[in-house]
Amino acid sequence: MPPRNPPWSRDELILTLNTYFEQRPSDIAANHASVMSLSEELNRLPGHVIRPDAQRFRNPNGVYMKLSNFLRFDDSYAGSGLTHGGKLEEEVWRDFATDRDRLRRVADAIRAVSAEPVEATGAILSIDDEFEAPEGSILVGYHRYRERNASLSRKKKASVLSKTGTLACEVCGFVFKEKYGLLGQDIIDCHHIVPLAQLRPEKTTKLSDLSLVCPNCHRMLHKGKDAPTLEALRDIINSD
Ligand SMILES: [Zn+2]
Ligand SMILES: [Zn+2]
Repeated sequence: MPPRNPPWSRDELILTLNTYFEQRPSDIAANHASVMSLSEELNRLPGHVIRPDAQRFRNPNGVYMKLSNFLRFDDSYAGSGLTHGGKLEEEVWRDFATDRDRLRRVADAIRAVSAEPVEATGAILSIDDEFEAPEGSILVGYHRYRERNASLSRKKKASVLSKTGTLACEVCGFVFKEKYGLLGQDIIDCHHIVPLAQLRPEKTTKLSDLSLVCPNCHRMLHKGKDAPTLEALRDIINSD
């Protein structure tokens, strides 16, 4: 048995689905330029450091096969498509096939962010499972990298402190200092409110892009598929 490469990530499937809608695999062969360039792109993407079969990692044949896996979900395709394929493919199809503008924006953002220097890429790779989004782990990792910027978060806290006299969670109002005393006096998270699909390396983070939230609310803001906005989370808290 040859060594197996890692399974496809959501990020990779998003880029692949985006290419799918630009160029249906049923109309092209595996050596088509769009397949070749997607293959190269996937090879450059941060994420899969370990590639047991580097030679065949996301090679044009594999990429073409993956493109063809999406045919089975496509009502506009007369054939039946390949019947096998993973659950994640189905999820990515469900999340993006009906909104191709969003798919394109997310794919563009993944591409832009992936071209970032190693420092950011390192943050992307160390992403933890508590923070996830339909847009994939590369954009979430980059989001986390942006909001963890220590000097920016210091500036944000100082600015809020001087304006309001306290560091309260913008969602639930929790103030660490009131509960924990001096120990909690400067504890609060920064959350980057720019939508993931709008993240671009060339746009630097402004203080107004950051919100101060407690770790509980921060975790909710990153929860699963339909991550709530700050306003929506506030409504949930205030609803009972
Ligand atoms: Zn909170
Ligand atoms: Zn966040």
